[in-house]
Amino acid sequence: MILDSSNTTPGAPGNHDTPGPALRRRAAVCPYCGVGCRITADVVGERIVNITADKQAVPNYGMLCQKGATLKSPGIWDASGRLKYPMMRRRRDEPLRRATWDEVAEFIAERLHAIRAEHGRDACAFYGSGQLDTEASYVFNKLFKGSLGTNNMDTNSRLCMSSAVSGYIQSFGCDGPPTSYEDLFEAEVYLVAGANMAVNHPVLFNMMRKRMARRPHVKLIVLDPRRTQTAAAADIHVPLVPGSDVAFLHLISRRLLDRGRVDEAYIAAHTEGFDTYRDHLMSLDTAALLTECDMDEAVVDRVVEMLARPARLLSLYCQGFNQSVRGVDKNTALINLHLQLGEIGKPGAGPFSLTGQPNAMGGREVGYLCHQLPGYRFVTDDEHRAAVERHWRLAPGSISPAPGLSAVPMFESLSRSEVKAIWTACTNPVVSMPDTATTRAALQRAELVIHQDCYHPTETGRFADVLLPAAQWGEKTGTMTNSERLVSRSQKLFDAPGVAMPDWWIAARIGRAMGFDGFDYVTSEQVWDEYRQLTAGTLCDQSGITNARLASGPLRWPCPSEDHPGTVRRYDDGEFPTPTGRARFITATAAGADETPDDDYPMVLTTGRIAGQWHTRTRTGKVPELSREDPEPFVEMHPADAKALGLRDGHPVRIAGRRGAAIAKARITAGIRRGLVFATFHFGDGYAAGVNINDLTNPAFDPISKQPELKYCAVRLEPVPVSEAGDSDPVPAEATHDG
Ligand code: SF4
Repeated sequence: MILDSSNTTPGAPGNHDTPGPALRRRAAVCPYCGVGCRITADVVGERIVNITADKQAVPNYGMLCQKGATLKSPGIWDASGRLKYPMMRRRRDEPLRRATWDEVAEFIAERLHAIRAEHGRDACAFYGSGQLDTEASYVFNKLFKGSLGTNNMDTNSRLCMSSAVSGYIQSFGCDGPPTSYEDLFEAEVYLVAGANMAVNHPVLFNMMRKRMARRPHVKLIVLDPRRTQTAAAADIHVPLVPGSDVAFLHLISRRLLDRGRVDEAYIAAHTEGFDTYRDHLMSLDTAALLTECDMDEAVVDRVVEMLARPARLLSLYCQGFNQSVRGVDKNTALINLHLQLGEIGKPGAGPFSLTGQPNAMGGREVGYLCHQLPGYRFVTDDEHRAAVERHWRLAPGSISPAPGLSAVPMFESLSRSEVKAIWTACTNPVVSMPDTATTRAALQRAELVIHQDCYHPTETGRFADVLLPAAQWGEKTGTMTNSERLVSRSQKLFDAPGVAMPDWWIAARIGRAMGFDGFDYVTSEQVWDEYRQLTAGTLCDQSGITNARLASGPLRWPCPSEDHPGTVRRYDDGEFPTPTGRARFITATAAGADETPDDDYPMVLTTGRIAGQWHTRTRTGKVPELSREDPEPFVEMHPADAKALGLRDGHPVRIAGRRGAAIAKARITAGIRRGLVFATFHFGDGYAAGVNINDLTNPAFDPISKQPELKYCAVRLEPVPVSEAGDSDPVPAEATHDG
């Protein structure tokens, strides 16, 4: 469902052109996906009475999907489901009790200092989120990497797009997409790979569909093992075997090479490594590649035919590429194709990685992964550390030169009692990490668990020694960057309940309690000002994006001065920020997934999202309208697989893997490959015991990006006798996770 504000009529709800005195109109940014839709919220008192979007304004031109359109739903704001006051316990055998900010800040400061003194600075860790705004990520970065001196700071963005980060850096010398949404209106061929945009980036997909309807020459190719809603709209659906993306891209690139579809002039002027890449492609056995992809050669022929004629090619990709032990290879193989064809740096062309979370891009810019520093700097670079230390007024050597622990090793280290204390914020790793048994054991074993959230209870909050109440979207002012480098300010609509505070405020409050300098911020605008100045002269320069400019509207970086208009498209001059100024062809030679099916686990499980839910449902689970379509966990499977198991649609199934098992209802569809099953990761133990699909998923990760292989693990399916699952509901009885 797409809400299109251009369809509303004057006088109807959503068209308060002359708001009355009690009605306030505020500009905000949707807190869900990386499309970054801007929202107009009409507010009366502490209540949103209407949500629309400006049809003239970037990036969503009046459109919102069902998640954005239901942000006024009472369940989201109901105080009974909120964490309103700090809570703490001094000993694990005590119940959590309400505390004041002073008490809880003093306790955290005392415990972190003690753990640091006894076990060293790397005994503390922070695990955050691409849903934190830039101001919060910046202050946490300053607290952990600067003042505490540990780079053990990572976020759930490690799970969704760190392979895209590494891919861009390997190929272009710099993270961040070359493209913007304006390229959606210029492209002639869309290549969507590993992304179900119709579900996960629905507003962007709607823009593409509108363009394809108006311009029949514009075509869509979709690479996906499932016939998703996106694939169903494609001119060519390529039903890849999971894990064969690199083989397919090599096959296509080779076939195009054979046909002379190579932009020799672009390659000669702006790239390096082409000879090695071409030699590698020419050495490949195309028949073997076709076998690896397990598809009809006619499908390959059609894709080659479509790409063989000059046309502006825009590739859009997401977790299907990134969540893999070969995630970086998949990214660079696709970028190689663009370089080969010269389809980059011009309108409607380029490799465009989509972000899943609303501020995943902003988090990358602020450097919230364990090897990064603000402004696309790296902890391993002496000059980068020195520049950040100067800006933070820290003594030289305060920032460690060693990368910290990324997400999976961080929780593994905690489970071995090497890391002793963890602070989680704005994320629910007990549901979202791969191999959640390890995550639970890690939190159980930790000496100190601090969890910061706007909702309570959550699966992760149950392990906490300290709960810190955070203001949620609409209750704070903050800045986020969407998939296209567009930096937007989301305004506060009303106060948070109880004493909940913005995430940046909480980090600063603890920094002061620990006796550190540089945390005396009073407003989020002060934080932003300090951050934007630190980006001056960097590859993601946002120094020209002042608070005053953000109050008038969003801007795309690079934006290096206060009169700079922002940058729609990068690399249009063919200059790349590599030592030679050239983009690099990266030749990937490794192959395969981390684990393979066998007699015990003969099928492959892949995971993903559904349209109505967001991550672990802590917010969307409170909106009844969003649960109508898919109210409970399901597992998609091919009719032949269902028949072999004696399963009917809706029958409960136990999905068993090498690390755990989960129960879901069978959903039988011919739109999935035989031997492959699909389940969502939204449902955690708080919804019902034994339904968390991440109990099964594989924590093995890409050696470069450290992104785990959430999209591929070996499983077997077992029908569950209905009597075991309950008399009337085959899925275990619903618990009360969300109050
Ligand atoms: S497309 Fe994404 S950003 Fe836009 S309304 Fe939907 S969830 Fe929000």
